Amino acid sequence: MTIDLRSDTVTQPTEQMREAILHAEVGDDVYGEDPTINELQEQAAAQLGKEAGLFVTSGTQGNLLAVLSQTERGDEVILGEDSHLFYSETGSLAAIAGVQTRTLESVNGQMTIERIAKSIRTTTDLHQPKTGLVCLENTHARSGGSILPLSYMEKVADLAGGMNIPIHLDGSRLFNASVRLGVDVQDITQYAGTVLICLSKGLSAPMGSILVGDQPTINRARRWRKALGGGTRQAGIVGAAGQVALASMVDRLAIDHTNAEVLADGLHRLPELRIINEEVHSNIVIVSLEQLPIDATLFIQRLKDQGILVSRMNERQVRLVTHREISRADVERVVRVIKEMVQEV
Ligand SMILES: *Cc1c(COP(=O)(O)O)cnc(C)c1O
Repeated sequence: MTIDLRSDTVTQPTEQMREAILHAEVGDDVYGEDPTINELQEQAAAQLGKEAGLFVTSGTQGNLLAVLSQTERGDEVILGEDSHLFYSETGSLAAIAGVQTRTLESVNGQMTIERIAKSIRTTTDLHQPKTGLVCLENTHARSGGSILPLSYMEKVADLAGGMNIPIHLDGSRLFNASVRLGVDVQDITQYAGTVLICLSKGLSAPMGSILVGDQPTINRARRWRKALGGGTRQAGIVGAAGQVALASMVDRLAIDHTNAEVLADGLHRLPELRIINEEVHSNIVIVSLEQLPIDATLFIQRLKDQGILVSRMNERQVRLVTHREISRADVERVVRVIKEMVQEV
């Protein structure tokens, strides 16, 4: 049996999801007539404490819609240099939204408040773009699933809010943060105007994300979604699985966090390896191979030969992600296999 630690996106829909899909009541969602999608959007908006929700095909689409519906062409968007929006969304902010990215250095997903404050432009000077949006990411993927402290989010909200600049929260793994912090998810979402969540990662739905925000913003996002080819018809077929995801898959994320800690702890004991995110906040472990004579490509291949899949961050770093289909025994096996391997090379 393969142990797939590349991403939590590999999770298969549960039996309960397949059952819900089979019996989903559906309609034409472009007409706004899919009862399952309407219910899912309302459920997500209520859960996240916002007025309205929009079902979208992917997190990337939802993030792009958040930008399109809250900025004008030529606006500047402030975001972290290693944010998913900047780093991993195919340049869509430039290519499609026509905005200019103002990327700031970020440590554990946090740009300093001082740098954000300095970077905000509200001038009416003809030469300068204006800041249209500030983007945060929680949990923060590239730093290893880091959680943004609530106090940090509050500071960003105070700063941007005071200048009438909207905040978008890329919360693809937002529930990992709320579960780990032991807070209501709204304690986090209160600091952002729009929030994106993914149903298809740790929550195990086959596809789909939801963008929530105030009604006018979501109305604009709906128009842009149509323009991007994201209007779908009997979408309740997949939305039904999303309902199960929100209703019953959130609390179990704690198991993934425990497994990630066990994994990091086991690997941390190997002097040949270094864990980049020493304090594992959620379900991602990033391992540095600097001390090894082999690079990431070879490391990944050797593990693959033993039925273990991990993903590549760069030439010297790999990423391991725990999820519903990774058991404690799997994690222990992975530690054993890696231990043997690093001692051999
Ligand atoms: C996965 C992810 C997304 C969106 O990914 P899709 O594959 O487009 O659904 C956005 N932001 C972060 C932080 C992510 O981890």
